[in-house]
Amino acid sequence: MFEDQWRQTNCDYTVKVGYNWIVDDGIDVTWYPWIKNRLLLPKHNFFICLVAHNRLLSQDRLVRMQIATCNRCLLCDDGEENIDHLFFQCSYSQQCVRLIEDWLQICLPLQGIIDWWLHLRERSLLKKQVVATAIAQLMYLIWHARNRCRLEYVLPSPASLFKQVKETLLINLRGRKLVIGANATREWINCVCPNCI
Ligand SMILES: [Zn+2]
Repeated sequence: MFEDQWRQTNCDYTVKVGYNWIVDDGIDVTWYPWIKNRLLLPKHNFFICLVAHNRLLSQDRLVRMQIATCNRCLLCDDGEENIDHLFFQCSYSQQCVRLIEDWLQICLPLQGIIDWWLHLRERSLLKKQVVATAIAQLMYLIWHARNRCRLEYVLPSPASLFKQVKETLLINLRGRKLVIGANATREWINCVCPNCI
């Protein structure tokens, strides 16, 4: 696992390290705003870097490496498990995204990471960062749900993943000094994240 290789370097992971890693490797610029998001916790930032580098050992890769024989998605039992399916097309993941949308009062297209960022481009910086943080946390939890399903045959409910995303994000935001900007953003943040400002 790449995460294990990183631990062996004894380096502390930081947003700057992750960003330089992405830039140095010439990864698609699409990922830059996700990696540079200052609200992301290091473990979520690191996970997004792994996704951007295509380092996750999804079932399609395991089959190609002849480590596994079945590439079926365990979360929905309907379709091949690859990165696009897992985070954007899987009915399980879509249920999780719908809960995030309801909470954050947004509507995200399901085509992929590029469309998500384009869809947010007209929003304030804080709103973009909050939404991107929630989505990154969700992707991290979807991957862990997939691993749990694979190893323990237990699938957490979409509601339980959403609850974890919301709780983690609220704690994260309440511990920061937020730059609010326009009144519309202030009203929005007061509504979705009470007591954050
Ligand atoms: Zn699926």
